[in-house]
Amino acid sequence: MTTNTNIPCPCGAKEAETPVLYPMCCGLLHLKNKQASTPEQLMRSRYSAFVMQEYDYLIATHHPGFLNGLTVIDLSGPPHNHWLSLNVISSSTSGKNGQVEFQAWYKDDNGLDAIHERSDFEFFNNTWLYTQGQQFSPLYPKRNDKCVCGSAKKFKQCCLK
Ligand SMILES: [Zn+2]
Ligand SMILES: [Zn+2]
Repeated sequence: MTTNTNIPCPCGAKEAETPVLYPMCCGLLHLKNKQASTPEQLMRSRYSAFVMQEYDYLIATHHPGFLNGLTVIDLSGPPHNHWLSLNVISSSTSGKNGQVEFQAWYKDDNGLDAIHERSDFEFFNNTWLYTQGQQFSPLYPKRNDKCVCGSAKKFKQCCLK
């Protein structure tokens, strides 16, 4: 299977209102041509790795002390969510520790849902790594807000159905 990777980066990065293409954004990190310089950049690249099924990258950027036996096989198994978008709510860095709160929207057989998580990151061996996260209930947009799927329609006229 060949996958066209010349697509807008799944993480939603934009420069001057124009979507940044995957090979110029998280693709650079997935190919190890660049390292995440902030916890938020790492978090964005990890979301893109889920979308692009770069499971090796997810293991490589997960702090070894927090993996708890997690493997590429675990990550590549079902369920396969249909990822819609990433919304970073807040991010902060303090010394060797960072936190990013985000919502990752997806659709599965039960409809629209989101992973709402506050992830912890640690600067370890000269690189930012994911350690663990605390999950919360999704915060849904208001009915008249833009939909989370990127359609530019109002939520009530799109994925709310
Ligand atoms: Zn990206
Ligand atoms: Zn939608």
